[in-house]
Amino acid sequence: MDASQVLKQYFGYDSFRKGQSDIIEAILQGRDALAIMPTGAGKSVCYQVPTLLLPGITIVISPLISLMQDQVKSLNEAGINAAYINSTLSESQMYKALDCAANGKYKIIYVAPERLETMSFITFAKKADISMVTIDEAHCISQWGQDFRPSYLKIVDFIDSLSERPVVSAFTATATSEVKTDIECILKLKDPRVVVTGFDRKNLYYSVEHLSGKKKDAYIAGYIKEHMDESGIIYCATRKNVDTLYETLSSMGISVTRYHAGLSNEERKRNQDDFIYDRSLVVVATNAFGMGIDKSNVRFVLHYNMPQSMENYYQEAGRAGRDGEPAECILFYSPQDIMINQLLLDSKEQIGEYTEEELRVIREQDVLRLRKMSNYCTTSMCLRKYILNYFGQETEEHCGNCSNCLEEFVELDVGEIAADVIECVRESRQRYGMTMILSTLAGANTAKIRSAGMNELSVYGRQSKCSQQRLKDVVYTPVSYTHLR
Ligand code: ADP
Ligand code: ZN
Repeated sequence: MDASQVLKQYFGYDSFRKGQSDIIEAILQGRDALAIMPTGAGKSVCYQVPTLLLPGITIVISPLISLMQDQVKSLNEAGINAAYINSTLSESQMYKALDCAANGKYKIIYVAPERLETMSFITFAKKADISMVTIDEAHCISQWGQDFRPSYLKIVDFIDSLSERPVVSAFTATATSEVKTDIECILKLKDPRVVVTGFDRKNLYYSVEHLSGKKKDAYIAGYIKEHMDESGIIYCATRKNVDTLYETLSSMGISVTRYHAGLSNEERKRNQDDFIYDRSLVVVATNAFGMGIDKSNVRFVLHYNMPQSMENYYQEAGRAGRDGEPAECILFYSPQDIMINQLLLDSKEQIGEYTEEELRVIREQDVLRLRKMSNYCTTSMCLRKYILNYFGQETEEHCGNCSNCLEEFVELDVGEIAADVIECVRESRQRYGMTMILSTLAGANTAKIRSAGMNELSVYGRQSKCSQQRLKDVVYTPVSYTHLR
C-alpha cells in the first residue's frame, strides 16, 4: 500500500491536503520533519499515515491527556492498534500496556512527556523496534513559546537512549521564528524537511476599532442589529465583562447566551449547545469558550477586549468563517486593555514545576507577547500582514481586506505634545498621575490643579488647543513612541 491508499482505507479521505504529502514523503524517506500548520489543518494524518507504512512502532509525545485519549479511541475504531500511557492509568494498567507494547501489539503509542523518564518505559523503549518518535505541540519545548513544558526538554535524552535513532517528526500550530529555531536545535532534528502551511484565512476580514466604554457597547449593539440572522462570538477578558455585556444585549432583545468558567457545568453545557444548534445566535464568552467547537457558520468574532497574545487572537478570531464564506474579526481596543491584561498575567498561576529562572523567562515572554498584541491594535500596517509575519510567513504589503488597508492614515508629528508631557512630569517632580498631567497641559482651572500649584508651571495650558483625546492618544498609544525620537 502507498500513502494515498492508507489515507483512503483507514481515514476515508480521497486526497492529501496542502503540506501533508510533503511531510509524509520526507518521513517515509527516513528524513526528520517539522510541520508548522494552523489548528485544523490536519497534522495528525501527517504522522498517522507514515506510522502504518513504517516497519516499527511510532511513539507520539503529547502534553494533552484528553486529546491523546480521543486520538487513541478513533484510531482503534479505524482498526489501528493504538494505546496511551499517561497519569490516568493505574500502575497495573500501565504495566499491562507496556507488556502488550513489548509484544508488538500496538503500532502507535501516545505518551505524556513525564512518562519518558520512568524506568519501565525506558526499559520497554530500549528493546522495542521504534521507527519514529513524533512530538506533538512541539512549541512546548521552547521557553519562547506559550506553553513551555520543562518535561519536553527530556525528549532528546530519550531519543538518544534508544538503540537506533528513529525518524523524528515535530508538529505545532504556533511557531514564531525563535520557537522554530528552538524546536530544531533542542530536538536536534537532522536536516529536517520543514513545512509551513499557510496561516492566511483569506475569507476573514480583520479590523481594529479604537473604542471604549459606552461607545463600544453601542457599536456592538448596532453591529449585531445589522447582522441580525448571523451567528457570532463576542470574547471578553473577564467574567464580569461577559455578564454585563450579556445583560445589556439580552435586554435589547438580541438572541444571545453566555459562557465562562464561573457558570455551573449544566449551564455551560446548555448555553454552548444553544449556540452550536443556533438556538442562540450570539455567545458572549471568556476565552474558556471554543476549545473543540467546530461550528462552521460563525460569521463574526468580536473581541470586547484585546487578548493577551497574537496566538490567542489568531485562534479565537479563527473560529469565524470555518465554512470558507466571508466573516469578520473585529477587535475593540482601548489602552486600558493593556493594564487589564497585565493584571491577568500577574495573577496567572503556572502549572507544572519551573525553576526561578524559567519563571522569570516565562514572565518576560508574556510581557513581550502582550506588547506584540498591542502593537497589532495600533499599527497602521496591513493587519493580515502583521498576523502572517508574526507567525513567520512573508506576504504582500496590502491585502485590501482589513481595516488598515481600507483606511487612510494621516501622519502626525506629536513630538511637541510629547515633549510638553515630559516637561510637565519633570516640573511637577513626578508627583502626579497622568490625569493631572493632562489636565495641567489642557489648562484646566480646577480646585485640584490650583491646590497642587500646577497652574504655576510653565507648561500650564500649553496644549489647551489640543483635544483631550489626542493628548491621551499620544500618552497611551504605543506606536507614538517612534514619533518621540
Ligand atoms: P490539527 O491537529 O492540525 O488541528 P487534525 O489532525 O485534528 O488537525 O485534523 C483536522 C480535521 O481535518 C479532522 O477532522 C481531520 O479528520 C480532517 N482532515 C485531515 N486531513 C484531511 C484530508 N486529507 N482530507 C480531508 N479531511 C482531512
Ligand atoms: Zn490588509
